[in-house]
Amino acid sequence: MSAPIEVTWGARTDVGRHRKMNEDSLIAEFPLFLVADGMGGHEAGDVASSRALEAFRPLVGRQSVELEEFVEAFHRAVESVDELGVGQTAAGTTISGVAVSDYEGVGHWLVLNIGDSRTYRLAGGELEQISVDHSAVQELIDAGRLAPADAEHHPERHVITKAVGAGSRAEPDYWLIPARAGDRLLICSDGLSKELGEDVLAATLRGVSSAQEAAEQLVDAALGAGGHDNITVIVVDADAVTDDEHPTARLDELDSDTLPRYDSAEGVSGAQV
Ligand code: MG
Repeated sequence: MSAPIEVTWGARTDVGRHRKMNEDSLIAEFPLFLVADGMGGHEAGDVASSRALEAFRPLVGRQSVELEEFVEAFHRAVESVDELGVGQTAAGTTISGVAVSDYEGVGHWLVLNIGDSRTYRLAGGELEQISVDHSAVQELIDAGRLAPADAEHHPERHVITKAVGAGSRAEPDYWLIPARAGDRLLICSDGLSKELGEDVLAATLRGVSSAQEAAEQLVDAALGAGGHDNITVIVVDADAVTDDEHPTARLDELDSDTLPRYDSAEGVSGAQV
């Protein structure tokens, strides 16, 4: 069996200009592309983010990841981070990113998000944020109490409402999105997305053909803008997709008990679980 999506990718992580340690972790190995941003003092965040992603490592080397396998790996990550038990400053981490997935012979992006790291897709030249932040600021925006333009200066902009560990039992959001040849995904920690506007992200992703070079330039731009936090970037390009003709039609046939439902209102042409 060949991979449902043929991809090339690039990745870079940097401690930034102000932090002593890099508490971000990443996996960029087919078919997994994940970023985790750890929190908790005294190296706890570093350990939490790397342990959480280790729980996904058994999926590396597969041609495709099923939703159930992704969910199981997430639960292993929660257990692994909980075991840290570092007292009052409980360690925790975000996770955001994708696994390449085959759904009924069609290549899909299986997206996972918990916390405020982000997964974006550039398609047809347009950049779209797939993940929805689990943050105090996002809740205010959803409630109509804060304009998106004012979010970057809000005093609670660093407060997240869901995480792995840190006493949280929260589940992540999952999406299953049909891939298209030419899709470019950006997965990043908030050290990128809080430092650079989406116009800068989009311009770089549109203008730099190599995925690795795009990742390098994005990190350099975040450093140039101040580098206040750890910065982690993965760029994934879909070079070819299995059977990419009208795959959304198939999503209408999903079994509603066991599989995601299609919801065009989500703004992403895919399904949220
Ligand atoms: Mg961060």
